[in-house]
Amino acid sequence: NRPIVAVVGRPNVGKSTIFNKLTGKKISIVEDTPGVTRDRIFGEVEWLNKYFTIIDTGGIEPDSDDIIVSQMRDQAMLAIDMAHVILFIVDGKGGLTAADREVAEILRKTKKAVILVVNKVDSKSQENLIYDFYELGLGNPVPVSGANSIGLGDLLDDIVESF
Ligand code: GDP
Ligand code: MG
Repeated sequence: NRPIVAVVGRPNVGKSTIFNKLTGKKISIVEDTPGVTRDRIFGEVEWLNKYFTIIDTGGIEPDSDDIIVSQMRDQAMLAIDMAHVILFIVDGKGGLTAADREVAEILRKTKKAVILVVNKVDSKSQENLIYDFYELGLGNPVPVSGANSIGLGDLLDDIVESF
């Protein structure tokens, strides 16, 4: 009965990098239904004496017919259904894409709490990369660098405040 946080976004934005930083080594791979090629990955996180379960997912690519991609999307949708809070990861360096807009639309329809995380903001001087993402209408984008471990404390503060 810990709160569940799902990490979603299109492929290669850095979901797994952020998941691994937030969980450290305490990850476990959970068997999924046959035919689902990418398993959900659950981890436990403690921050300021609050505990939550976090789920990494494959990417969501809304309009692809590719079977692997559509299976990853199904698995991401399962994680979204289970979640209390969704971390929607976008790529600050790659900029806003049509796929991001479609994922944002899916997330809006769920009516769940969404934290919009702009990854790959690798230094303070790159924080202007967040501005394009305001138009997604999901509140203030939170800049992080999963690779450089920047902004993850502020992100954890936002997560535990959202429960
Ligand atoms: P996922 O597909 O969303 O899980 O993305 P991954 O975590 O596998 O990362 C995709 C690529 O982005 C990899 O090459 C990572 O090294 C790179 N990456 C992840 N986080 C960052 C970051 O904060 N800054 C930069 N510059 N690259 C990153
Ligand atoms: Mg990944």
